[in-house]
Amino acid sequence: MTVTGHIARIAVPKPLPQLFDYLVPENLKPPAIGSRVRVPFGRQSLTGVCITLDPEDAHQAPKPLLAVLDDGSVLGDEIFQLGLWLASYYQHPLGEVLGTLLPAEARRGSELKIHRERIWQLRNSEAAPRRAPKQAALIGYLKQNHGCASHRALREAGFSQTVIRALAGKGLIVAGEAADPETSPPRGAATSGRHALNAEQQAAMVQLQNEGTGFVPTLLEGVTGSGKTEIYMRLIEQVRAQGRQVLVLVPEIALTPQTLSRFEARFGSASTMHSGMTDQQRLQTWLRCRAGEEGILIGTRSAVLTPFKNLGLIVVDEEHDGSFKQQEGLRYSARDVAVKRAQTLQIPLLLGSATPSFESLHNAQTGRYRHLELKHRAGGAVMPSFNLLDIRGHTLSDGVSDRLQRIIATHLEAQGQVLVFLNRRGYAPSYLCPTCGWAAICGRCDMRMTLHRKPPGLICHHCDHRIGLPAACPSCGNGHLLAVGLGTQRTEAGLRAMFPDTPLYRIDRDTVRSQKRLEESLRLINSGAPAILVGTQMLAKGHHFPNVTLVAIINADAGFCSADFKAPERTAQLIVQVAGRAGRAERPGEVWIQTYQPENPILTALVKEGYQGFARREMATRRAGGLPPFRPMALLRAESHEPKAALGFLETAREAIRHRHRTEIEALGPAEAPIPKLADRYRYQLLLLADTRAQLHRALHVCAELPLTARRLRWSLDIDPYDTF
Ligand code: ADP
Ligand code: ZN
Ligand code: ZN
Repeated sequence: MTVTGHIARIAVPKPLPQLFDYLVPENLKPPAIGSRVRVPFGRQSLTGVCITLDPEDAHQAPKPLLAVLDDGSVLGDEIFQLGLWLASYYQHPLGEVLGTLLPAEARRGSELKIHRERIWQLRNSEAAPRRAPKQAALIGYLKQNHGCASHRALREAGFSQTVIRALAGKGLIVAGEAADPETSPPRGAATSGRHALNAEQQAAMVQLQNEGTGFVPTLLEGVTGSGKTEIYMRLIEQVRAQGRQVLVLVPEIALTPQTLSRFEARFGSASTMHSGMTDQQRLQTWLRCRAGEEGILIGTRSAVLTPFKNLGLIVVDEEHDGSFKQQEGLRYSARDVAVKRAQTLQIPLLLGSATPSFESLHNAQTGRYRHLELKHRAGGAVMPSFNLLDIRGHTLSDGVSDRLQRIIATHLEAQGQVLVFLNRRGYAPSYLCPTCGWAAICGRCDMRMTLHRKPPGLICHHCDHRIGLPAACPSCGNGHLLAVGLGTQRTEAGLRAMFPDTPLYRIDRDTVRSQKRLEESLRLINSGAPAILVGTQMLAKGHHFPNVTLVAIINADAGFCSADFKAPERTAQLIVQVAGRAGRAERPGEVWIQTYQPENPILTALVKEGYQGFARREMATRRAGGLPPFRPMALLRAESHEPKAALGFLETAREAIRHRHRTEIEALGPAEAPIPKLADRYRYQLLLLADTRAQLHRALHVCAELPLTARRLRWSLDIDPYDTF
């Protein structure tokens, strides 16, 4: 074979730290940096990305490339550079990072071509066919839509192929291609649903406009229902008016039809990017964003990796939300990546939340972010009152105290709706034999299995292992087994017995499996009649339930006694977010929190001083402990079928780090993980803390030298971990 003599250095999508060199055969053009190539790899052929051409230290006698798939860089310079940054910041193999940045379809090596939509344009609006009502209706539809509509929109509006073809045949409509936003159906400056800003919103808006363009990160801390979304939309309008693109990141759970329709009502159209899309749909959206053809992209975590031609603003809604952190593979935080991108592109960034993460609060307090506040609810609704309900010495029935039962009854009688929150699905977290002490334990995790009644069975909530309900104790044969503890199904059953005439909706991962069922429940709830809603954090976020006047949190204590140092922060955020569902319309709301620890300082701070008071107190504890956000942290996890292998691996890592960076790094552990065994693997972890990020990253380079797949051992590095489970 003849070769050009060029050598291309390629990142392949494998968990390997190194890059690989390939010869460029004579019949191929040398690949551009950032373009996709097909390369032989072992017995496979893989789609990699060209990192450099003709590196000085090229390897000897490399194999030839099979194909060059693109003329230029696929990702564009900004995202390619972002890839290099991600690989270094998260200490993750570059090939896998670039694989994550490419949509699945592109990773497979498919051609990257935008599927143009056929657009039908009205030629002659006067000559409406009189005796063909469907054709006349189509012409009427086009008139209403500025004379044009996409083929898909027409089909969705109920016009058949036959009707479209008939009109085209008469020359009354003509087809074109939507090549760019100018010839696409108008996507636009609709202004429906626009509120006149209240004084607080106005003040925030003035501040936001003051700085003009450039990298201006802002934390918008506004209580639930304070009109943050209205502010996002005003800013978006301005950026769109300059013809620039906007990226809006929302938590997984918030990408409800409600959110999307709110944006659509305002801007005519917005595209979405989320895990429920097909690969081809994702690719198309990705390509249109890259080409500058999408004005607004609303998406969950991975949307932050989308290339844009002319991005002018990034909004991160509910910036504290855990779904922004990827928990496997490349463990990136979409919020932090958004900050990085806004900085690179020198554009404004808006982080919004009623319960900001400590990281963002810290950045605001140290002046790195501008801090804007909305302290009141927009449009007249008032904040709900917070109350602790001391249940020491009380008997609970299915989690509900007598007093709470009376409070619920009062709200239902006053035609209000009641939301009952507890953070555990299933019926009961333990299933025991009172005679011999047997307990249902997951054989793979050594943890208790949760009893489910609907449908009946035992489920391990850690590894999802499922077994049928034993008819009798497997150990002694006793037929009367005991359900201990509380889950949503149990509270549902209890409340049904207490309030047999009130409709009850349970919303948790088990009932939300079907989107249709969720939407039906939401529709019934929003009809406003008295009802009880029981659920997990699925109820906490994004939903607007105008008629909920009471929020009851029935087991708040659990979250405050976790082994994880971030658990209080997450629990407080959850409580405030759930509480924020109360009193969102005309009628004021009440929040009741059942607790066995009414003197718990964290809980009382939260109730008396709100999230800000809580955060001040809890952040002081973090500062004293030298924990994030005051010092950067990394978590090295290892798991193995043999506990010794995992522990030994982490001990080696700790010694290597101590040896070279003794003074710079504080290493805690290795210790058993809070979930010590998961799906047959024993889990250990080593926490690493430093005073500066540079110090931490220097030490983490040691990890690059650790064997990536030691025998029967899996390990991972989590930079800025969201939790330490
Ligand atoms: P957040 O995003 O802070 O939770 P939203 O933007 O969803 O708040 O606003 C909460 C409610 O208040 C919504 O129903 C919204 O339509 C309404 N709203 C927002 N701004 C105003 C305003 N200036 N005047 C009246 N109602 C408003
Ligand atoms: Zn028994
Ligand atoms: Zn299990």
